[in-house]
Amino acid sequence: MHLPDNPPTAFDAALQTGLEQQHRTEGLGAALKALHQHQVDSGFIRDHLLEVRRFEFNAGNDPEAYFSVQFNPARARRFAGKGRSEPPAWATPVHNGCFLCAENVAWQQNGIEKGFQLQLAQRPFTAWMNPFPLASGHAILATRDHMTQHWDASQQPLGRLVDELVALARQTPGWISFYNGVGAGASIEGHLHFHAMPRTPGLRPLPIEIAAMRANRDAPREGFPAIVSGHYPIDFVHWRGLPNDVQSKAGAWVSEWQKQKADDPDATANLMACHDFNEELIDLYFVPRVRSRSRAEGLSGVIGSFEAMGEIICSTEQEWDDLESGRVDYQRIHDILATVSVKL
Ligand SMILES: [Zn+2]
Repeated sequence: MHLPDNPPTAFDAALQTGLEQQHRTEGLGAALKALHQHQVDSGFIRDHLLEVRRFEFNAGNDPEAYFSVQFNPARARRFAGKGRSEPPAWATPVHNGCFLCAENVAWQQNGIEKGFQLQLAQRPFTAWMNPFPLASGHAILATRDHMTQHWDASQQPLGRLVDELVALARQTPGWISFYNGVGAGASIEGHLHFHAMPRTPGLRPLPIEIAAMRANRDAPREGFPAIVSGHYPIDFVHWRGLPNDVQSKAGAWVSEWQKQKADDPDATANLMACHDFNEELIDLYFVPRVRSRSRAEGLSGVIGSFEAMGEIICSTEQEWDDLESGRVDYQRIHDILATVSVKL
C-alpha cells in the first residue's frame, strides 16, 4: 500500500493556534467566523446561499404572528454527502465513514475541511463548517469522540446537553444554537452534535421568540420555567435569564422530564438557545417530541429545531411550485407544526 508522504489531515496547527487566540480575545463567534472564512478560501464552503429565497406568511387576524419559509435548494443535495465516499488505499475509515469523525473528514474532504478544537462544559468538541448551511457561517459542534446523538439516561443525560448548549450560547452573542434529538431533525444520528449560526441580519425575531414574549406579556411569571401552551402550534418550555441560572434551572427541569420518559422509547426533543447582541441574558427553549411524528405532513422535510422555531426549510421543485403558486400560507404552516406538538 502506498502511503502518501503528507496524507491530508482534518486539523492544522497554525490555524488552531490562531483560532484559539481569537477565541480568547474576541470570543467564540469571532473564531467561528474566522474558521468560516478559512473554509470559504480553501474551497470547502461553496454554498453562499445565493439560491435561497425567503417567504414570510403573516396571520390574517394577528399582526404579530408569522412563519417563514426558507427555500434552500442546496439542502436537497446534502443526503448525497460531500466529498469522496470510497476511502483511498491509505485511509482507514472509522464508524462506517461517519462525516463528523475527524479521521474520516481527513480522507473524505482530502484535507480541505478543517476543524477547530475546543471544549464546551469540559467536554472536547470540534467545530466544523456545514457545507449545506441554513445561514451564512452555520457551524456544527461535534464531540471529539464518536457517541450517540440520542439522549438517554446512561450515556447522554439531557441535563449535560443543556450545560453544553448554554456554554455554547453564552459565548456567542447574536447567534442561535440548537440540538436536534433523534427523530426530531437529527440527520447524523451516530455522532453527538450541536448547530450554531449567526442570526441573519435584517430578519425579525423568530416566531417562537415572539410566542414566548407574548406568553409572558399575557401572564407574567416570576422565575422559571414558563410552560407555553396555546400561544404557538407547538407546546414548549422557555427559560430566560443569566446563563448560570438558565443552566441550573433548565438542567434540573429536563433531568426530571427525562426520568419520567425513561420507559418511553418514542420520546425525543429539541433544545434551542438564543443569545441576543448586547444582552447578558439568554433564552433556552425545550420542545418535547415523539420520534413517530418527525416529518412535516405535506412537505418533504423533517421538523427539526429550526422548523420548530418557526422557519420551515424547503428544497424540492414541488415545494417551490407550492410556494410560488400560493398553496402555502400561515394556516398550512401552523397546522404542519401542530402535527408534531406534544402536549405539556
Ligand atoms: Zn463519528
